[in-house]
Amino acid sequence: LNPLYAQMPTTIFEAMSGLARQHGAINLGQGFPDGPPPPALAQAATRAMAERSQQYPPMAGVPELRDAVAAFYAQRQGLNLSREHVIVTSGATEAVAAAILATVQPGDEVLVLAPAYDAYAPLVRRAGGVPVFVALTPPDWAMPLAALRAALTPRTRALILNDPLNPTGTITTPAERAALAALCVEADLVAICDEVWEVVRFDGQPHASLMAEPGMAQRTIKIGSAGKIFGATGWKVGWLVADPALSGVVARAHQFLTFTTPPMLQWAVAEGLADDALIDGQVADWAASRQALLTALAAHGFATLPGTATWFSCIDLRQSGFALDDATFAKRAVTEAGVATIPLSALWEGPPAPRHIVRLCHCKPTAMLHDAVARLARWR
Ligand code: GLN
Repeated sequence: LNPLYAQMPTTIFEAMSGLARQHGAINLGQGFPDGPPPPALAQAATRAMAERSQQYPPMAGVPELRDAVAAFYAQRQGLNLSREHVIVTSGATEAVAAAILATVQPGDEVLVLAPAYDAYAPLVRRAGGVPVFVALTPPDWAMPLAALRAALTPRTRALILNDPLNPTGTITTPAERAALAALCVEADLVAICDEVWEVVRFDGQPHASLMAEPGMAQRTIKIGSAGKIFGATGWKVGWLVADPALSGVVARAHQFLTFTTPPMLQWAVAEGLADDALIDGQVADWAASRQALLTALAAHGFATLPGTATWFSCIDLRQSGFALDDATFAKRAVTEAGVATIPLSALWEGPPAPRHIVRLCHCKPTAMLHDAVARLARWR
C-alpha cells in the first residue's frame, strides 16, 4: 500500500460529521447548508434530465456552462474569458487535484499558506512535489509577504492561494494581491487560486481575483464551485479557468480523474449562474444566519475572530475562557455538548499551529444555531 494513504488520517470534515452522526450532535463542523439548494436549480436539473442528454457530456464541460462561467466572471469580476478558458470538474477539489497534477513535477516546491484546506498538501505530495508551508497569524491573518519571499527557492513552482480563506473568513487586500502577483511574476510561479468562496462574502464588496493582477492572466488557475455559490455541496460541480495554453493541459489531468460531471447538473448550474437575484438572495440569507450565530455567541460570552466571508465563523477559545486546546474542545463538544465544530489545527501543517481556535458553520436555520450555542454555553 502507498504509505501516503496508509498513514493518512481521514479528513477532519468526514471525521467530525461521522462523530456528529454517531452522537446525534448538531453539525456545525463540515461546511454545508442545512436545507436544499434553491428550488429553481433542482427544477432546472430535473428538466434537463427529462428533456436533454444523460450521457457523457464533452470532457471539458457542456458549452452552456463553460460560456456561463466566462460570462459570470466577466460581469462580476471584470475578467476577460472565453469558453476555452473554462474546464468543468466534479467539484472544486477535483479542480485543485487536476491543477496540481498538471503543474507540479517531482521535486517541485509549492508554497502553501497555513491554515490550508486539508486536500492541498496531500495532492502536492501525490504529484511528487514538496509543500512548503508559510503561516498566517491570528487574529488578522495578514499575508506574510516577507516569509513567502524568504521561502522561495529555485525549485519553487507554484503558490496555492485560498481567497477568501477557509477557515478564517478573511479576504486579501488589494495591496496584498499586488504584492503576491509581483512575487509570482518574479519567481515565475503558477498561482493555483481556490476562490470557491468568491460570492460568499458579507462586506458588500465584489470579489477581486489574483488572476486580474498584472502578469497573472497567463499563470493563474482560478477555481470556482457551484456547491458554494448555490449551497449545493452534494452536486459536486466545480470548474477552473485558466489561459487556454494552461487549461488545455489541466484538462488532460481532469480527463483521467473523473473525465466528466453529470450533464443535467451542469445545465442547471449554467441557468443558475445567469440568475443574479437567486445568487444574491441566498448570500443575503447566509448573512442573516451568520449574524444570528455571532449575536448568540456574543450573548453567551464567546469571543469570535474577525472574518467577513465564507460559511464559517471562528471562536477564540482562550478569549472565551476555555483552557482546552482546539482538538480537545472539538472532541469533547461533539460527544458531551452535542455540537460538532472543526479545530483549526486540523487545517494546519508546517509551523506550530495556533491551538485556541475552532470553526463553526453558520449557514443553518437560526433555531439550530441558537440551540447549538445554548448547548455549548450549558456545557462550558
Ligand atoms: N469545504 C468544506 C468545509 O470546509 C468541506 C469539504 C469536504 O468535506 N470535502 O467544510
